[in-house]
Amino acid sequence: MADAALDRLVEEIRRVAPEALADGQVRIMEVCGTHTMSIARNALRSLLPDGVELISGPGCPVCVTEVGYIDRAVRLARARDDVVIGTYGDMIRVPGSLGCLGEVRAGGARVEVVYSADQAVDLARREPDREVVFLAVGFETTAPATALAIRRANTESIANFSILTAHKLIPPAMLALSSDSDVRIDGFLCPGHVSVVIGSDAYAPIAQEHGRACVVAGFDPVQILSGIAAILRQRAEGRSKVESVYPVVSREGNIEALSLLRETFRTCDATWRGFGVLPASGLRLQDRFERFDASVRFDLPDEKAQDPPGCRCGDVLRGRLPPEECELFEARCNPRSPIGPCMVSSEGACAAAFKYGHVSGGSPR
Ligand code: SF4
Repeated sequence: MADAALDRLVEEIRRVAPEALADGQVRIMEVCGTHTMSIARNALRSLLPDGVELISGPGCPVCVTEVGYIDRAVRLARARDDVVIGTYGDMIRVPGSLGCLGEVRAGGARVEVVYSADQAVDLARREPDREVVFLAVGFETTAPATALAIRRANTESIANFSILTAHKLIPPAMLALSSDSDVRIDGFLCPGHVSVVIGSDAYAPIAQEHGRACVVAGFDPVQILSGIAAILRQRAEGRSKVESVYPVVSREGNIEALSLLRETFRTCDATWRGFGVLPASGLRLQDRFERFDASVRFDLPDEKAQDPPGCRCGDVLRGRLPPEECELFEARCNPRSPIGPCMVSSEGACAAAFKYGHVSGGSPR
């Protein structure tokens, strides 16, 4: 069934491509790291006609988290022996300029892998003599869970829980990319899970004011190829609009989740790896929850730090450079010995390219 559906989609893409490729090329950015991994794992590039190019974008939360954030977490873990850092597993190996959290843990500090913000609250409850700091990294998909954890800590008066927030919002990064004259993007494949929360209307300015096709798709090959076909159809018809091939996405999004986010967080300017500061692209706690903000509780100033020497993750995240064209790729930077977050993260473009091959879609390692 899936094979027949895939065959039909590939046929449709090949049929519509000549008109869509009016100037010989269509560049489609898959915004999300989950798309990047699925495209690479299923060798979807190899199914596309010449001229239809997929480029990876900034939708890997670990990858876009800046070095300064890692440094703040490392500094805190080293300075306070009563602190337990709770973090998603991928963050442990991301290098900062002061080392990575894995090294800090090897040096004796408490760094615990958790699978949710709620689990970090559990940890704080079990260990009232410790300060548990959750590294709140992620987009609109994970931010509601962090908001619920804050609400729970507040209701249950768990005073030894706080978050170091690096939550980010996807549409401001897409807007920045749409205004970037150094990278050509004709259409965006928008992430299904984020779009369920924010609603497809969130992409309207990108389609209407910047002329980029925006199509929401899920993560299996049929969904991804359906999204690509929809973008190509728009290009062939000379239109750019927001569409969804992901059945559960509404125009307005998940009202409950959005109101939870609004009541818990406010938007703030945020620093993205590769982009610098993007206005209104991050989330920080509302004033009434400030006591759960680790940067306030522990007086952690913003840190400015450079990416690792030679690492081109910033260019990879902006779609300016295929991973293989980073000079460190493979020989010096690989999953065993990663230099940048795009090789560390299970959703990173460099990790996907290393594991499955990128340009040809073949040669898995
Ligand atoms: S290959 Fe490694 S060093 Fe190069 S951009 Fe990717 S993560 Fe950074």
